[in-house]
Amino acid sequence: MPARSSTVARLVLLTFAATAAGLDARPEAQTTPTITADAVKRHTVELADDKYEGRGAGYPGERRAADYIAAEFTKAGLSAAGDSGGYFQEFTFHAFHPVKPWEILTSRNVIGRIDGSDPGLRHEIVVIGAHYDGQGRSGQADPFRVMPPGGGAGDDIWNSANDNAASVAAVIEIARALKHSAVPPKRTVLFIAFGAEEHGMTGSIYYVGHPVAPLADHVGMINIEKIGRLPDKPFNTVGNATSPAWAEILKAGQQQIRSPLAMTSPFAVPESDHYPFAASRIPAIMLMVSGAPDGHLPSDSADRIDFDRVAEAAQLVAGATAELASRPQRPAFSPPPFFDIGISGHLALPSEADARGVDAPFSGLKVTGVIAGLPGAAAGLQPGDLITDIAGYQFKRDDTLQALMAMQQEVMQGKRGLVLPMKVKRDQKSLDLTMTLKASFVSKIER
Ligand SMILES: [Zn+2]
Repeated sequence: MPARSSTVARLVLLTFAATAAGLDARPEAQTTPTITADAVKRHTVELADDKYEGRGAGYPGERRAADYIAAEFTKAGLSAAGDSGGYFQEFTFHAFHPVKPWEILTSRNVIGRIDGSDPGLRHEIVVIGAHYDGQGRSGQADPFRVMPPGGGAGDDIWNSANDNAASVAAVIEIARALKHSAVPPKRTVLFIAFGAEEHGMTGSIYYVGHPVAPLADHVGMINIEKIGRLPDKPFNTVGNATSPAWAEILKAGQQQIRSPLAMTSPFAVPESDHYPFAASRIPAIMLMVSGAPDGHLPSDSADRIDFDRVAEAAQLVAGATAELASRPQRPAFSPPPFFDIGISGHLALPSEADARGVDAPFSGLKVTGVIAGLPGAAAGLQPGDLITDIAGYQFKRDDTLQALMAMQQEVMQGKRGLVLPMKVKRDQKSLDLTMTLKASFVSKIER
């Protein structure tokens, strides 16, 4: 519904100037088994089937999808690495634009593990991830997202095949390939299918707040998104600047495929599940294909996916993971050249502003995630807070995405000052909090 798009826009869609940097393709011998199009197709078609109801986070279809992924992790030979000896890590989250104001729902991350083979390195952890939740059914968690005329397949299910069933299919097959590799990974590799990414990356933010091993032992993370469309375009990476080692690590994967690789953005920003890792000072990138059609539309169905490309992406990540998990030195982390405040959020619904006693035309930034160790957390922000004013910027119900992004850029560049007073509504309480940006969070600030 374009008329409402400004009010429902998430405040997480930063884009930086594209800096294409193609890496050479040099086919060479591979150590990981070949990942086939048929294998990734099977999981994609399954997860994008109507029986999972579009995998809307917090709804039964998402839970059934998690059960399927856990079963496939078992078949691939992974060990369960979630809570209480199982594959699942359950968490609650504030729904993005819920049907009921301030509704809290429950989701699960699915976590499997290959133990490292090297006694000196196996305490170190590499994470390979993709979110498995999708857009669900019309009306689930987003009252504004209604089926366009003629959209979908005669039902109200948004099957979410490219975003992101195909990537989860890749994760399952990468896991199987690495488990059966002739050269087992020296470091431990965790495979995580994240829940509730579509609600402000709440699954991955929960994970970095509740890691299965100390965060300091997490040496790198690769996130996969939207890899099955536009097969004639290069694969893209985001976040290469989180470590100088990524070029070499990615080259090890790209040697196993034909498609070229290009970088769309060097920095990790709050747009998908690699971000909470990068914000936690872990080298983290995302592999994706820019500009894929049918994003967040009911037309994102499995019959439009190019499964040869999904298999290629999986092969690339498998090769890169083998390198990352076994190279002698863990990759160094490079901090970003901006202030990362470490929160996810978006403009609240009018009904949510009303419920907090914030009257029209005013509104607020609904905080859905807070990452430990960063300025938002240090200020005392919590998920479920409504920031109505930050450094003199008063949120309004009709704020455009452009205005919100401009304000976010100013905060990240330190242009609104390094001490940011905030007015916050927490339930019915009014709080004055202060966020302090510290130079130690950045490598270089341009003024
Ligand atoms: Zn996605």
